[in-house]
Amino acid sequence: MDYDNKISTIIRDLPRSGIRDFFELVIGRSDVISLGVGEPDKPTPWPIREAVIRSLEKGQTSYTSNLGLEALRVGISEYVTKHFRTTYDPKTEILVTVGVSEALDIAFRAVLNPGDEVIYHEPCYVSYSPSIKMAYGVPVVVQTREENEFALMAEDVEKAITPKTKVIALNFPTNPTGGIMPEAELAKIAALAVKHDLFVFTDEIYSELLYDGRKHKSIVEFPGMRERTVLLHGFSKAFAMTGWRLGYACAPAPLREAMMKIHQYCMLCAPIMSQMAGIEALKMGETAYEDMRQSYEQRRNLIVSRLNGMGLHCFNPGGAFYVFPEIRSTGLTSKEFAIQLLEKKSVAVVPGSAFSSAGEGFVRCCYATAPELIAKAMDLMEEFVNEVRGK
Ligand code: PLP
Repeated sequence: MDYDNKISTIIRDLPRSGIRDFFELVIGRSDVISLGVGEPDKPTPWPIREAVIRSLEKGQTSYTSNLGLEALRVGISEYVTKHFRTTYDPKTEILVTVGVSEALDIAFRAVLNPGDEVIYHEPCYVSYSPSIKMAYGVPVVVQTREENEFALMAEDVEKAITPKTKVIALNFPTNPTGGIMPEAELAKIAALAVKHDLFVFTDEIYSELLYDGRKHKSIVEFPGMRERTVLLHGFSKAFAMTGWRLGYACAPAPLREAMMKIHQYCMLCAPIMSQMAGIEALKMGETAYEDMRQSYEQRRNLIVSRLNGMGLHCFNPGGAFYVFPEIRSTGLTSKEFAIQLLEKKSVAVVPGSAFSSAGEGFVRCCYATAPELIAKAMDLMEEFVNEVRGK
């Protein structure tokens, strides 16, 4: 069978995720120190796991409402009110999803007609462009730059707006750079969205992980934004719940309803065990992640100072758990750097090119790893960099 000609051209032409490809090189290698995959190094807090064990003991293994358990949606509404100063009705404006991944996918599918354009920023998380394409949309890239610490500049967004633009997709603090948005720039982007009557999808997955005393502000909080924003959030990062696959979308009722239509046919509902975990996680709130956040801040300080110390320029990112050092001074491409570092020193980082061409010249290091392992990885990386430079 000629599979190539029978598989959907959109799917055939999608690249494989560069992160996953790299991850596969590392799987099963206990000798490798991994700064590769973006997930917390600790398991989900015990009270959350315990609550799920109890619910399993009670035999709670059924489907739930397509929307998600009401107690979870009420918990989400309270959490979002507190963290984003914006209130959503648990009955009509919140949908529980299988991670932010599903929430993003159904948000794009809910609003895009073929040919509609979505402005998003690169370097960024690998699923944005594929999700837009799979919804028959057209990804329109605005590059962010190191000189702005990878914040998105409103003037660049403005230049990218056309009559076909329907959505601006944002993710700050961002993956892979750890960059955050200056409030003034966010305000300007909000004003552009209002002026051009655009939707904004804001992926808030790292919003709890901010450093140096910063407080998060989401674009949904600016005037005129609530009615045009889909707020996407989840439990993977702050609550160390990547494997539970739990997230949610908050949006005005007609948008939530459109997303719900896709979700009910494709997913039915998020797993009940994960929803039970989510209820407990929200009860714990900040106590589930505040110690971890503080320890990430120390790890960030350690890794940024070590990278700069070995001559790999690295700005001090305000959030998430990634740093994005520039490796051009080694003369290697980001892929050569990552592969040779893995082969010669057994340290895994992700080539910046996995996050689009805008990431070339950089590598992503995830510092959600024990400080002693970060220190060891930095010793090995320094040896490697010196060898490459012929020192
Ligand atoms: N959005 C961003 C920016 C991410 O970095 C990730 C995962 O790394 C996701 C979404 C996926 O999140 P989830 O695990 O909730 O599907």
